[in-house]
Amino acid sequence: MDVVIAPFTEEQVESINAFQGDGSWHPFTCPKCGTRLKASAVTIQCYGCGKYMQTWVHKFMADWSWRDPKYFPGDWVGKEGEGHDEKR
Ligand SMILES: [Zn+2]
Repeated sequence: MDVVIAPFTEEQVESINAFQGDGSWHPFTCPKCGTRLKASAVTIQCYGCGKYMQTWVHKFMADWSWRDPKYFPGDWVGKEGEGHDEKR
C-alpha cells in the first residue's frame, strides 16, 4: 500500500486529522497509551503521552481517498503493524 512520508502539506494534514477524528475507519493510535495520533507538518504523533511519533501515513489517509467507500480497500486493518491492533 502506498504511503506518504513527512513533511506533510497543509491539505494533507487536514485530511489526515479528519480521518483520525472521523471514526468511520480505524485511526492510527499510540502503541504506548492508545491516544489517537495527530498530524502536524512534520510528523504524526501522540499528544497523550508524548512518547510516540511516526513520519508516514497511508496515502489514502492524506488525500481524502478515505472518504470514498469505493476507493477504500477495507482490508488493511492489521496488515501494516503499528497502531492497528484494535478492531472496530
Ligand atoms: Zn501515547
